[in-house]
Amino acid sequence: MEPRFLVISCVNVLQFAPVCYTISPRDGGLLFATSSVFVLVVSSLYHYGICSNKRGHIWVCLRRRNLSGDPLLSTFKMEMQFASSCPALASGPAGNVFGNLVTHILAAQCLLTENWPKDSLSRVSDGDVFDFIVVGAGTAGSIIASRLTEVEQWKVLLIEAGGDPPLESVIPNFSGATHWSDHAWQYYAETEGETNRACKFGKSFWPRGKVLGGTGTINGLLHMRGSAGDYAPWHTSDDDGWDWKNILKYFKKSEKVVDPIISENPELRKYHGFDGEFIVDQLNFTNTEIANALVDAYKELGLDYIDDLNGPTQMGVGKIRGGNHKGKRVSTATAFLNPAGERDNLYILKNTYANKIVIDVSTMQAKSVSVTLSDGTSAVFNVKKDIIVSGGAINTPVLLMLSGIGKKEHLEELGIKLVADLPVGQNLQDHVRIPVPITIDTGATERTEKYWLEAAAEYIIHGTGPHSTNYNQPNINAFLSVPGDKLLPDVQIDHNYFFPNTSYLYSTCSNIMSFNDDICTQFSEFNNNKELLIFYVSLCRPYSSGKILLRSTDPTESPLIYSKYFSDVRDMKTFVNSLKRVTQIVETPTFKKMNAELKRIYYKDCDHAEFASDDYWECMARTVTYNVYHPVGTAKMGEFDDPAAVLDKRLKVKGLKGLRVVDASVMPSIPSVNTNAAVMMVAERATDFVMEEYLPENIKTEL
Ligand SMILES: Cc1cc2nc3c(=O)[nH]c(=O)nc-3n(C[C@H](O)[C@H](O)[C@H](O)COP(=O)(O)OP(=O)(O)OC[C@H]3O[C@@H](n4cnc5c(N)ncnc54)[C@H](O)[C@@H]3O)c2cc1C
Repeated sequence: MEPRFLVISCVNVLQFAPVCYTISPRDGGLLFATSSVFVLVVSSLYHYGICSNKRGHIWVCLRRRNLSGDPLLSTFKMEMQFASSCPALASGPAGNVFGNLVTHILAAQCLLTENWPKDSLSRVSDGDVFDFIVVGAGTAGSIIASRLTEVEQWKVLLIEAGGDPPLESVIPNFSGATHWSDHAWQYYAETEGETNRACKFGKSFWPRGKVLGGTGTINGLLHMRGSAGDYAPWHTSDDDGWDWKNILKYFKKSEKVVDPIISENPELRKYHGFDGEFIVDQLNFTNTEIANALVDAYKELGLDYIDDLNGPTQMGVGKIRGGNHKGKRVSTATAFLNPAGERDNLYILKNTYANKIVIDVSTMQAKSVSVTLSDGTSAVFNVKKDIIVSGGAINTPVLLMLSGIGKKEHLEELGIKLVADLPVGQNLQDHVRIPVPITIDTGATERTEKYWLEAAAEYIIHGTGPHSTNYNQPNINAFLSVPGDKLLPDVQIDHNYFFPNTSYLYSTCSNIMSFNDDICTQFSEFNNNKELLIFYVSLCRPYSSGKILLRSTDPTESPLIYSKYFSDVRDMKTFVNSLKRVTQIVETPTFKKMNAELKRIYYKDCDHAEFASDDYWECMARTVTYNVYHPVGTAKMGEFDDPAAVLDKRLKVKGLKGLRVVDASVMPSIPSVNTNAAVMMVAERATDFVMEEYLPENIKTEL
């Protein structure tokens, strides 16, 4: 009789030949010890023994090689098992071929894992002193920690509330699954009544990454930088280091663009970096015929086709580039932390929460960070030079306020001792969008289970296909303004395409967009036997701004987030004008050929409005409000006499010593586009500010 549970063990008798044993847990006895199929995969970091036997048991033994690459000294990292009772499996030549296929697929899945850096809990003790402490291993924190540890004599502690990224973050099409996992903070904005009326609980869902790589590990992978005009408001004095020339230099520093459309074009090359750590490529193309139709239709609408949306302008339509390589996500954790992980001077504490920054008020010097470690105990770590807060635009203001840095009246309300009266948590800016449903008919039919099996096989064998692209979308973006001749766009449009009767449309609507059943049922009905295109139209440069406040003094409690979308009337006017312009796409010859139909979304508050009128679009903006997850600006930098600034232009907290903020919070204004690349640029810029202060002889300032 088969044992109910199998415990699999691999014993390394020869250098490359694990022998596989199956042990019955009941009697501890050896059931068999031979393998009829044996496959070995050797990579620079892992080797795998994959075995099956005539009973159809298949298992994979994964070992990580040690640094010198010698597998004999390696240790077991993971074991997987797969049991099948199919007698033909792995017997005879045909069985062997199919057995090989299965073992290859299992092994290939193992190859998707990344070499995440080790946790340093065993290397640190309460009271230890570091040159720098970085709070948050997100998009910015991973870069800062990696760059600072390039200086061998600096000892750097990196504190991260989350752990290693899951496989779902590595495979682009699964990134949505991370939003509701332990790898994300599940924040909601407060119910404000004026917007998000058809959202579950009337609230906007704001997931943020709680994992190595932070939100860059759960995001949509788009690498968008914006253009010079987006950063003009950041440059407020001659030598502040935030002029476009400097900004472009720091965008380029981490970039490694591998797309030949850019790298082989001398004009476009000027805007890019090719030697950095962060690989930027085209996002893998699926649904190309839909992408081509969209490009044609936008051109008929009067937009220019642009080869590079990260070139001199975004105004037009073009292909998206993103942080991805060979079908896998590139984040600042994969690009910066993984290679830095073996450095002796980098100490990473995973699953460790920073509760407070301790400041000596007599000198206004930031001294230490108090944390709850992964084992539940408390510790305090001290710093010689700077504490760098990179907790992201929501958690950074929370940590500052809990440490006594914030608006006086708010901190006093909560009984927090004031250290510095600064407008922390104010100036919250975000992109906001709505989904616009358009049905089309290109003759495409419903996708069956077989399509997704083939997609899985294509991904695992070639690293291409639907799973290698973010949300399986036609990867083009359009940017336009009304009137059309503005230098910067009013709206950005991205798209989702759904084959008829797509099974996951309802859950995308409910779990990702966070809309209620009434709206999601309508979306499913639009898709009944029809192809559905959703245009996500988002406002590029909102005037409206919200704020973040503490809910209580408990560091683990979610803060109060007030998004204040469309609270400035200018935003609604721009948005409505843009929606009317975008939806003219249904009148283009290309869309007419596809029998395109703009669909009305019914909702009690909007049903009085004439379809597609200004009133209708305003009502939609207030009803199917969907954030783009780009909060910035909550600890903004500015001139010393700017009352709205929390930081000086070198990103130091005003009036304090040894405390910097480096993440999306520092942005004085939101760029027109997705924010991850801008955060990376901020981190590179900030690193040189730190280097100039503590290692001035090593910094070349010329551009
Ligand atoms: C769903 C989604 C999709 C997105 N898509 C895109 C996209 O396609 N392209 C794009 O450009 N941008 C995108 N963004 C936005 C972009 O990813 C963020 O702007 C960027 O990652 C922010 O970087 P950050 O360093 O400021 O913060 P984060 O990357 O969020 O890093 C903060 C880190 O600090 C940790 N932390 C916080 N508080 C503490 C504490 N007290 N103690 C210890 N650790 C702490 C967090 O766990 C986290 O790891 C998306 C965002 C989301 C949520």
